[in-house]
Amino acid sequence: MNAIRVQQVGDPDALQYVDAPTPEPGAGEARVKIEVAGVNFIDTYHRRGWYPLPLPFTPGVEGAGVVDAIGEGVSEVAVGDAVAYGMSTGSYAEYAIVPSHLLVKRAAGVDARQGAAAMIQGMTAHYLACSTYPLKPGDTCLIHAAAGGTGALLVQIAKLRGSRVIGTVSTAEKERIARAAGADETIRYTQTDFAEAVNDVTDGAGVEVVYDSVGIATFDKSLDCLKPRGYMVLFGQASGVVPSFDPQILNQKGSLFLTRPSLSSYMLTRAELESRANDIFDWIAQGKLQIRIDRTFPLDDAKGAHAYLEARQTKGKVLLTT
Ligand code: NDP
Repeated sequence: MNAIRVQQVGDPDALQYVDAPTPEPGAGEARVKIEVAGVNFIDTYHRRGWYPLPLPFTPGVEGAGVVDAIGEGVSEVAVGDAVAYGMSTGSYAEYAIVPSHLLVKRAAGVDARQGAAAMIQGMTAHYLACSTYPLKPGDTCLIHAAAGGTGALLVQIAKLRGSRVIGTVSTAEKERIARAAGADETIRYTQTDFAEAVNDVTDGAGVEVVYDSVGIATFDKSLDCLKPRGYMVLFGQASGVVPSFDPQILNQKGSLFLTRPSLSSYMLTRAELESRANDIFDWIAQGKLQIRIDRTFPLDDAKGAHAYLEARQTKGKVLLTT
């Protein structure tokens, strides 16, 4: 089969297009004929060695396709099922072996592209808005990179939950995308001091929660946007890793809460995974959640997809097709 392999961590050239043996599923595993692989920021962290994986490895933690073989003891899916999944490495390939408990059947009306796009960014937006800080009507939230893959989904789910959304973006085009997703206010944080702008648009009150995927470039100022007892939800580091932090700052800035969540802690059981996936698929099928596919690259140009992501270009989901 055709696959991407990383033999040595490094820049996008580390993503080599190779001919690899087609893998066989073991007990509790299914083989998925991948139609579409989702490209996520975490793939670049794996490629760079920031989140180390044993070498060599096939990157990609999100995919959609059809179950093509199953191992012993698999009960969740059967051969021929249209499925999607996240949080299992190896989707940049024609076939991937996936623990069957991570596979969800795609609902009618959810195609492979939507399915592949939903499983990491959609599920993340879901847990952030519904569980980490469960947004409610009357809340105001600040969402950084609001036109990005996760950001634009988070904006939409925040609006479904009745909250007011302030989104930050870097360009006029991204401003339009964030507005189209439902953002009530947008701030160009590359040109404006976003903490001052948040202060202005909230009449000095601040926000209940900041969802920050940008990291080092936004972290400190994000704390200044919060109301007393507000929630700082740092869930990514597109601009770089936030360094060690003195908890006394949380006291000084108003008894703030700080969390650094990850998707794996919010899909601890099969029931939790299915419940979040069902919400996402229902919203897609009902037209309440729009998945914006930004760019689709062929598998043999995975390096182009990574370069695009790292050049701050994303305006929605980036996919690879096999
Ligand atoms: P996005 O599509 O959101 O792309 C990243 C966005 O971040 C860009 O579009 C850009 O928007 C903004 N950005 C700001 N500074 C930089 C920079 N220096 N380089 C690149 N981008 C920058 O990506 P994803 O939705 O895939 O992921 C966003 C973040 O969320 C990542 O850090 C990822 O690791 C994290 N994440 C965390 C999860 C979790 O469970 N904790 C799960 C999924 C993702 P703009 O130009 O508008 O500034």
